[in-house]
Amino acid sequence: MDVSKILDSLNPAQREAVSSDNKSLLVLAGAGSGKTRVLVHRIAWLLQVQGVPASAIMAVTFTNKAAREMRSRIGELLQLTPQGMWVGTFHGLTHRLLKTHWRDAGLPENFQILDSDDQLRMVKRLLKEHELDETRFSPKSIQWYINGHKDEGRRAKHVDHHNDPYEKTLVNIYQAYETACERSGQVDFGELLLRAHELWLKQPSILNHYQQRFQYLLVDEFQDTNTIQYAWLRVLAGNGNTITVVGDDDQSIYGWRGAKIENIQQFSEDFPGTTIVKLEQNYRSTSRILDAANAVIANNPDRLGKELWTDGERGDPIQLYAGFNEQDEARFIVERIQSHVSNDLLRSEQAILYRSNAQSRVLEEELIRAGTPYRIYGGQRFYDRLEIKNAVAYLRLAYGSDDDAAFERVVNTPTRGIGNKTVEAVRLRAREANTSMWRACLQLIEAGALTNRAATSLSKFMELINDCAEASRTLSLEEFANFVLEATDLMAFHGKETGEKGQARVENLQELVNATRQFEPEGDDSTALREFLDTAALDAGDQQADEYTDAVQLMTLHSAKGLEFPVVYLAGVEENLFPHKMSVEEPGRLEEERRLCYVGITRAMRHLYLTYAESRRWYGQESFNAVSRFVREIPDDCIEEVRINASITRPLSARLSHAAEGHDTGLVLGQRVLHSVFGEGVVLNIEGQGSNARVQVNFNQEGSKWLVAAYANLEAV
Ligand code: ATP
Ligand code: MG
Repeated sequence: MDVSKILDSLNPAQREAVSSDNKSLLVLAGAGSGKTRVLVHRIAWLLQVQGVPASAIMAVTFTNKAAREMRSRIGELLQLTPQGMWVGTFHGLTHRLLKTHWRDAGLPENFQILDSDDQLRMVKRLLKEHELDETRFSPKSIQWYINGHKDEGRRAKHVDHHNDPYEKTLVNIYQAYETACERSGQVDFGELLLRAHELWLKQPSILNHYQQRFQYLLVDEFQDTNTIQYAWLRVLAGNGNTITVVGDDDQSIYGWRGAKIENIQQFSEDFPGTTIVKLEQNYRSTSRILDAANAVIANNPDRLGKELWTDGERGDPIQLYAGFNEQDEARFIVERIQSHVSNDLLRSEQAILYRSNAQSRVLEEELIRAGTPYRIYGGQRFYDRLEIKNAVAYLRLAYGSDDDAAFERVVNTPTRGIGNKTVEAVRLRAREANTSMWRACLQLIEAGALTNRAATSLSKFMELINDCAEASRTLSLEEFANFVLEATDLMAFHGKETGEKGQARVENLQELVNATRQFEPEGDDSTALREFLDTAALDAGDQQADEYTDAVQLMTLHSAKGLEFPVVYLAGVEENLFPHKMSVEEPGRLEEERRLCYVGITRAMRHLYLTYAESRRWYGQESFNAVSRFVREIPDDCIEEVRINASITRPLSARLSHAAEGHDTGLVLGQRVLHSVFGEGVVLNIEGQGSNARVQVNFNQEGSKWLVAAYANLEAV
């Protein structure tokens, strides 16, 4: 293997980054400029040219899928698969660390991951126990509160409630939540990072060991790291290790989850002498697509500022389609997909991206109707489906009976006459005795504290779990899964549901058995179940069926990060949907929406379609939204409108100015206006004609309001 192979296919700036000797390196560059490619080649360079052992390298990616891809790309480049390298997400890597050092981290050996659903259920339960009103303390907002503090590295004891009674209650709930997790040996996603960070601080010898080991740290999508992730990384890097981060401030899209763009600037301060490499050539998109992306993102203030250019071809204009409703929009997309397929493109080379998960249903229906296979990333993932969660809960209980979340989920599923009252009694006992629900059951039964019927039903349930546990020790993973589905009656229970749904659930359960069959444990048979459960919890979605069928890819804009497709359909580019309604009201959120739009546009290599619906049923209501302001930010020569029925295309500007004139309010969307009472704001929407015309203005101070245009006396600013 010679050096040139690693450097040959890189431009000079990329080469500089790949072969840099500097201890800290920041690659700051726009979409499609080869940041991920630089990381892959840098790892190959370290291994091959610098002779760094694979075990000294840790690479952080944003998804498990990206981690697998990184491994395989390195493998291709080097013609061998490096062993002992840690490549994964922050969650995956810290999970691995805690699994090894559970004792030092203060966790039980078989601690379980609490996913977002389990977490919400637990919060609800705690609210009930504390007799708090769910309308004042919404479970979702409490979940958000807890996660927000964890992302910032704060436990309940660190939160300052400023003696405010409401905030005090929140802190108490957070505290109770921590206790409950502790008691049942459960760890939520934020906790993985928080614990792992505490492990560094409290166990210097362990930290020292890993600092010695991982002398090379590499991070992709650095702009979306949050406070605790960055803190964890910084401690691990210490003073002497080599750290490479790549990112793009224009693609920071997880601010709502605590990601900090500021980490980019912080990085060069924390690591003095950082080399900053900028990459400016885009290798992904046509110049038209790139011009559009650049023009949209230029509307954001406070950018670090980067130029992107391409010497690729100009390409076709971006096509804008206005469906008269969302079904029509979906039909258009599916027709285009098919016509690209008949022109020799694969379905898998085409992706439909959308802002909100709920948009997928109509698109899916249309794809199904047309018999076009598709795959969904994110959203209702395989391991998120009800029947799968039930089955996995049984597997978890069989593995460790103290798992309260799993216990709660299936104690009466399928129904076996264990009522709410009994479960409530078990919970109470568990809390009083500070023990798991399983042990509480044993205590209650022994003490004769339950009715005969309840005691009998519970004992039967526990026998069943014991049988499963026994089976897990003697059978192969696949046989065990089959055993559980039969013994628990889950298969029959879900099969009874009517029509398609029951059918789909049975198929999913069968697919779970397939997953156990295909599962390749790293250890031997004795650890296979544990490994499988961990993978199921961490890898949700990645195991989706039909990997081998050529299928159109559907995903939210958020999950599309880092990916690229020859053809992209960006659906629902409408005001209120994208930018999302909520974002217009919160400072900073509109900018994040615009970055999301930039991410969406820059996923496209050759063809980009933007579609919207003139009317849409959305949360049970018919709504009429204007085309997204982001579309209006795209230069005229990059975009054209498609009209299928009349089979004409006309430039976008004609249509937009026509629409604006039609309202005869003298106002246009996006215009800044001044109102005598509400002050300054931006026009979001215009509806109706003449004296009926109404405008929606988002005022800087007062938020968004609808006004009758004739009386509002809005002045252009
Ligand atoms: P994003 O910001 O979207 O994550 P990125 O900066 O990580 O993008 P990559 O995904 O690494 O960009 O690269 C984009 C595309 O350009 C890939 O298909 C990659 O293989 C290709 N590419 C990058 N650099 C070069 C190069 N020097 N020569 C040829 N192709 C390149
Ligand atoms: Mg990338």
